[in-house]
Amino acid sequence: MAIPPGSTIGILGGGQLGRMLAMAASQLGFKCHIYTPEADSVAGEVSARQTTAAWNDSATLAAFAADCAVVTYEFENVPVGPLAALAALGQVALHPPLRALEVAQDRLSEKQFVTELGGRTAPFMAVDTGEDLAAALERIGTPGILKTRREGYDGKGQYRINLDHEAEGIALGGQPMIYEGLVRFTHEFSVILCRGQQGEVRFWDSAENVHRHGVLDVSRVPAPAEIAGQVDQARLLAAQVAEALGYVGVAAFEFFATEAGPVFNEMAPRVHNSGHWTIEGALTSQFENHIRAICGLPLGDTRLAARGAVMHNLIGDAASDWSGLLGDPANHVHLYGKDECRPGRKMGHVTRLLL
Ligand code: AMP
Repeated sequence: MAIPPGSTIGILGGGQLGRMLAMAASQLGFKCHIYTPEADSVAGEVSARQTTAAWNDSATLAAFAADCAVVTYEFENVPVGPLAALAALGQVALHPPLRALEVAQDRLSEKQFVTELGGRTAPFMAVDTGEDLAAALERIGTPGILKTRREGYDGKGQYRINLDHEAEGIALGGQPMIYEGLVRFTHEFSVILCRGQQGEVRFWDSAENVHRHGVLDVSRVPAPAEIAGQVDQARLLAAQVAEALGYVGVAAFEFFATEAGPVFNEMAPRVHNSGHWTIEGALTSQFENHIRAICGLPLGDTRLAARGAVMHNLIGDAASDWSGLLGDPANHVHLYGKDECRPGRKMGHVTRLLL
């Protein structure tokens, strides 16, 4: 059943993705209620209400859910346990489904899930002990990347291993890890899709993504021919994963373009940084379509609104030149309203359309 405009949408997480979701929701006449542990969240600032509480505060979480017609998340590290308890009460619809959160929170389960569906990934092995690491180096070889299975993002919790003996000094620290062989790719790209409640799927054009120090720097559409030739195969896999999860909403799938075809890297069960260009560059943005999907409304057209678009992230003090950025009338400037500018922190982004 469709959730009508005027209803309240609950968003778990208070970052810039929640902020942009709330802005898209308000365009359609919805109110948003943010749930986040941070007192001053950039999403709460543009929403009707905010609840500030810990993720495991079940009573407060239940009260929050009781205020909402539907609950979604903008942060994939929300602990699954308290949400499962909430879902079990059956009080409120939760989209995307918990299973998607569970799979995507763990790099190992994510890669297993995708390979079981026939997708290609880097060779990988779970590493919990020094012996596991030795076995992984033996089987997969170097170069490779040792990553924390959980809570790693933007290249955090990753260690590049170029030669076997470099692994000797690594203290595993009791955290579950995964070792992946290094993929020799020519480009990186993402497939972003939106799946509605009847199973209908829309894709945005795939962007070429350029990372710097493990963080997304630039997304560009249209992507070059080397990527364009691999998009159909990547989309097929992305749609299969979404269907297998009974997914509702926007999901992003990151791929490496290689000479042998697309190699899946990771998925995000949420709107994604490499889709920010869709705000101006597509007929319907990823944020609006996510809101439409979780509310059971018809999905909007995802085609390009211009010949193309380029999005640059404003990281760290790059946003302090807001005046210079606004001085160029071709720039669509987005600032997230974060008080503290730290190196590596995403402070905003700028999109330019190719007209
Ligand atoms: P991730 O946190 O897994 O998205 O990794 C961040 C970035 O590190 C990716 O966008 C790639 O540029 C690089 N990277 C991660 N895993 C691999 C891999 N197995 N082979 C080559 N590059 C990788």
